[in-house]
Parts: sequence; C-alpha cells; structure tokens
Amino acid sequence: MSTSLTPTLAVMKIPWDRKRNTLQRSFPQQPFVGNTDDRLSSSCKTASLFRRSALAWYSGRLDAGLRYAAAAAARGCEEGHEFCELTPFWHIALLTKARDFGTALQAIDLLGNRRDRSESQLMTATSLIIRGELLFVMGCVDEGLAEVDAGLRLAEGHDARSLLPTGYVVMATAALRRADMRTCLHYVDKLTGEALLGYFGQAAGAWVTAQAAEARGGVDRAADLVAGIVANDVVLHQLLVSEPAAASWLVRAARALGADDVAETAVRAACATSEEQPEFSVLRGAALHAAGLLEEDAGKLHEAANTYLDRWCGASVREDLAGLLSKRRSERNNVISTLESALSTYTAVGAARDASRVANKLRNYGVRRGVSRTVEREGHLPHGLTNTEFAVAELVSQGYTNNEVGRQLFISRHTVAFHLKKVYQKMNLTSRVELAAKWKAMQWRHEP
Ligand SMILES: [Zn+2]
Repeated sequence: MSTSLTPTLAVMKIPWDRKRNTLQRSFPQQPFVGNTDDRLSSSCKTASLFRRSALAWYSGRLDAGLRYAAAAAARGCEEGHEFCELTPFWHIALLTKARDFGTALQAIDLLGNRRDRSESQLMTATSLIIRGELLFVMGCVDEGLAEVDAGLRLAEGHDARSLLPTGYVVMATAALRRADMRTCLHYVDKLTGEALLGYFGQAAGAWVTAQAAEARGGVDRAADLVAGIVANDVVLHQLLVSEPAAASWLVRAARALGADDVAETAVRAACATSEEQPEFSVLRGAALHAAGLLEEDAGKLHEAANTYLDRWCGASVREDLAGLLSKRRSERNNVISTLESALSTYTAVGAARDASRVANKLRNYGVRRGVSRTVEREGHLPHGLTNTEFAVAELVSQGYTNNEVGRQLFISRHTVAFHLKKVYQKMNLTSRVELAAKWKAMQWRHEP
C-alpha cells in the first residue's frame, strides 16, 4: 500500500502531557481558524446567533447549539450575507448530530420550497453535503454517499474549505465500514491536510483517523489518538455530541489497550453529557452503550439498543450485547438471534466489514449466516457475491495479501483463500490482477 498512516498520526496527535496526565488547554486556540471568521465577526444578528450556536456545539452543548441555530435559521439576514444563508444548513447538520431525523427532513423540505434557480455553487455544495450526511446517518447509504461525493467535488473546486471536513468524515467512515481501506485512507489524508490548516471542529476527524489506524494496524496503532481524544476535554465533549458511536468505541479501544482509566473517563463524560442534556435520546443511548460495555451490564445495553435511532449504532450495541451474553451458556439462542439481528442491519447499511466480523462470530456457534442468501442486501452486491466475498474482493483488489485481508475481516487466511476462490468462480476470473482490473471498472464504487 502506498499510503502510510504513520505521518498522519504524527500530525493528528492531540497535545497532551502524558507525564503529568494533563491536557494542554491551549488546544484549539482559535476555533474559527480556516473558517469564514470575517463574516462571523459582522454586526448582523443572524451571524451572531450562528456564531453562538457554533461555539456552543464546539464545547459540547448540543442543546444551546440547536436553540441558537433554529433562531438564526428562522431570522434570515437583512444585510444579504451569503454566509447567513447557510444557517439553515448548519441547523440541519446539528439536527443530524441529534439524530432528530423528522425535524431535519422537514427543514430540508422547507429549503427545497424556498430555493430559487440562481443558487450559488457554495449553496449547492453545502446542500449536497449536509443532506448527504443526513441520508448516510439515516441508513440510506448509497444515496447519502452519492450526494456527499458530488458536494465535495463542488466544494473542492470552489475553495469552500469549511465544508470539506464534514464530507471527508462521512466518506472515510463509510469506506471503513465497507472495508475499503484505500478510500478510507485517501479521505483520512485529506482530513489531515485540513487539520494542519486548523479547521473548525476536529473531533470527528480525529476519531475517524483513530478508527482507520486501528483497522489498518491493530489497536496499538491508535493508542496515542485514543488517549489524546479522551484527555482533551474540548475534543471529547465535541465528539460525544457529534458521533453517538464514539463513546462505546473509545471504551472498547481503551480496554483492549489495558487503559481502564481512559475507558472510565470516556464513560463518565458520556454519562455527564447525557445528564446535562436529557432531551436527547441519542446522547442517552450512547451513554448507556458505553457504560453497559464498561460495567458489563446487559440491562444498560438492552436499553441502549431500544434507544438508538441510528441503525449502525443499533447493530453495534446488539453485537456488544451478544458478546456479553455469550459468557453465559444458557443464553446461546439469545446470542445467536442478537448477532443475526446485528448482521442483517450491518448488511442493510453497507457495513461489509462489520457484517463479516459478526458472520464470523456466528460461525463459532455453528451458524453459517455469512454465506446465507437471506441476509444479503438484495440487488446491491454485484455478481451474487455474499458480504464476506464482497469484502474479500474489495481488499484483494486493493493489493492486500490474504493474511492482511484476514486480519481486516477477522477470519483466517485459509478462509480468505476459500472466499477468493468463490469470487473468481462467480466473476469468471483467474487472478488477483484480473480481479483488481474488473473491480476498478465497476461503477458502484465511490472513487476518490
Ligand atoms: Zn447576515
């Protein structure tokens, strides 16, 4: 592979003093660096509400952020700032973080009715990226990614830099979930470039970088980022109100690293955030998930599963619940049905990597769901490939060895070889080179 994560990690490292176990309060000094801060300092009332909203979210208050954003979006601007016209999209972005899909969709409908034909490129790019992110999070993955991709092309062409990180995070996350490491690292590199310039709201970017590092080289590769995220109050709280899957991921990673204190800090912060802002079920779900994992409390995981609206998060908590129940022999059937439910959701949202991991866990119970037709995303996987075959083909076409593919997908290299043979049969191929060529030519991929 040509892309290495090492330089990425070096520059993404969040400042903190490991010896004294304190965080450097100086990060980040200027939240709006790299943003259109000249507009934000204008005397316009809408711009001032926008700024308050952004700063509230920046420091972990989704409630105040949404209040100011709704007020700004409802006001409109008397001074004709293009920047102020973007406030409804910022409002929708926060509603997406809150997983308030109903209100977000209503707000989008309202904008669609208001829109005129002379819309600027910046407005079109913003609309595409914000709408695409919402669709992606709702589980309409292909539609969402197509919009984000189109929005990013426009934004990159028109130097709309403040929009880029949001889009890059969606693209990197989606690629990671479908085991497309090449695309994932491509967007992580772009995020790193933006981070060097100091973009507004780096928490989600730092987290997706940590996930990529873990997927690529094991959890040790992500250790500095995990510790850095949790040790920095601003970054941690911003992440907790932006990405509901983050708290539980940090707990899983910290425990795998043997850093129980880091896991405890993440759980404490997630619970405090949820208690301070009790109106958000998404924050409650995330806190229950993280706490349930750390405390091995099946009741909390159950409740989290019933609280989450985000489909991928729902699958993730069911996978964790199954892991906990698997320690009790009497729960065998419950474990299998919980894993099957997680598998079908991962499959439905295009998370081939996660689906492969769960299919592998099911095989340990003698259930061969990985090759069953019943849980396939019908009509979505080419050549009748199963989830695992799809993920294997994806990784092999990117130049990974069977050993490396096996590590990515949580299966042995012999199992990889078995699936690869099936891929060759179904696609009528004879070699890795042929596979790479044919794979690249297929149009359903979101090419970087
Ligand atoms: Zn204005």
